[in-house]
Amino acid sequence: MTDTQEKQVEYALVIHGGAGTILKKNMTPDLEKQYHGKLKEALLAGYNILQDGGTSIDAVEAAIIIMEDSPLFNAGKGAVFTNDGHNELDASFMDGKTQNAGAVGGVRRVKNPIQAARAVLEKSKHVLLTGKGADVFAKEQGLTMVDTSYFHTERRWKSLQNAKTKEGGNSLILSEDDNYKYGTVGAAALDKAGNLAAGTSTGGMTNKRYGRIGDSPIIGAGTYANNNTCAISSTGHGEYFMRYLVAYDISAMMEYKEVPFKEAADHIINDKLKTAGGSGGVIGIDKYGNIAMPFNTAGMYRGYILPDGEVKTFLYK
Ligand code: ASP
Repeated sequence: MTDTQEKQVEYALVIHGGAGTILKKNMTPDLEKQYHGKLKEALLAGYNILQDGGTSIDAVEAAIIIMEDSPLFNAGKGAVFTNDGHNELDASFMDGKTQNAGAVGGVRRVKNPIQAARAVLEKSKHVLLTGKGADVFAKEQGLTMVDTSYFHTERRWKSLQNAKTKEGGNSLILSEDDNYKYGTVGAAALDKAGNLAAGTSTGGMTNKRYGRIGDSPIIGAGTYANNNTCAISSTGHGEYFMRYLVAYDISAMMEYKEVPFKEAADHIINDKLKTAGGSGGVIGIDKYGNIAMPFNTAGMYRGYILPDGEVKTFLYK
């Protein structure tokens, strides 16, 4: 890609807390406040690192941990349940400088799956570890492990019961009105050294069949980062994001066709994915510091912060 654009900002962070049927009529003022507050806390945690000259990897991890630890989002504490009543979590991380990546799928015991994904990136020769092997690896790396009951929240348990009633006992039906189920978290950052990174963490989709792995730990689908183009984290109906390699597809449009970031991201989410029947969105930042946050659902918890330190958070269209 030729350098035709000016750098917009020296560093920045953009995050999401999931896309889906997020409608003002279903919210209370108090809940709205909680979402804005948590997004702000996550953005500031990453911002402080970037401002001090820290890496985009550290900023992405710090922001995601805050959202994983909050029951508001479908990641870490607050993860949704599988059809058989368990929590199986997926996460991934990618370093735009080295193009190295790490991911975990279907973990049940590590408190912060994003840290496990980072450990796979930095401390293993692999890209994706799943199930028990991934939890054992996380433990060996000294990460905090919890009892599976840590992930149990009443709100998500009720969602599982509702989904089961609605879907007649079947798991993960691929229907148009499925998008009430999302809530993954993710972050993408550009640091002062010009390095991009992205990460994503999720409980997956409510009532998913046990063993199902979504797009969130799949590099190129749920997460992608490349210093020559952009850093992206996805949220939405994972099966579509995997089939259409959404995050990589945006980067490829930039790399091969020199399409500007926002245009590429908007095209993939609002044209290609939407036409295919896939719902969701992405957040991301390009190497110039341009931010994009397109989604084709009613809402997406999202926000960004630039060097001026002003926090911008949004919930609806
Ligand atoms: N993409 C996630 C999955 O399919 C769900 C989400 O974004 O909330 O597992």
